[in-house]
Amino acid sequence: MVDFLEKTNSKKTKILKEVLEADRTPKDIGLLKCIQCGLCSSGCPAARYSDFSPRKIMNAVLQGYPNILQDQLIWNCFSCYTCHMRCPRGNSPITVIQVLKQKSIEEGYNKDQIQDFLAYGDSFIELGAGSYSKEMVESLYEDWGEEWLEIRLNNENVRKQLGLESPLLPIKARTEIRIILEQTGFVERLKKLRNNSK
Ligand code: SF4
Ligand code: SF4
Repeated sequence: MVDFLEKTNSKKTKILKEVLEADRTPKDIGLLKCIQCGLCSSGCPAARYSDFSPRKIMNAVLQGYPNILQDQLIWNCFSCYTCHMRCPRGNSPITVIQVLKQKSIEEGYNKDQIQDFLAYGDSFIELGAGSYSKEMVESLYEDWGEEWLEIRLNNENVRKQLGLESPLLPIKARTEIRIILEQTGFVERLKKLRNNSK
């Protein structure tokens, strides 16, 4: 199928080809069989509360919409996989959208969308475990409220009162984890993502 796409208007099929050839995309994905029935959008929780529509995103990819990687709406998908289960044509809109997000970041767009992930990555390097960024705590506070924030800010004391040990990993374990993250390219990747923006 990619051969066929090769012979058609390459500018228009560029993003479609890239999605089909991505490591993340299963070879038997039914993207090219999409009939625009809208079943994916009808069950999508994100589509219910915003202008986001997996059906429209599939159409944009199939039509070669040039600015799809810059589109903020792709970030409204929160990977619940309902569309994946519902599509009658064996397509997986969630997978296509994940590939678009990855390409968007690689090309330097929408860096603000991954700030929390970058901060999470930093905490893995520093503490050996994922931890919420200050911004994430602030936004979670809006949903989870005062009591949660109180516990969060006094985590160490609350744990002591409950007779629990510190949640922090011992220094030796943290050092070992940092070495693994350096040697597997995680640290370098994080740096690259941070410096790569448009
Ligand atoms: S991806 Fe599947 S469910 Fe969504 S419009 Fe296309 S065929 Fe329909
Ligand atoms: S995975 Fe994303 S696109 Fe699919 S139904 Fe869930 S929120 Fe919607």
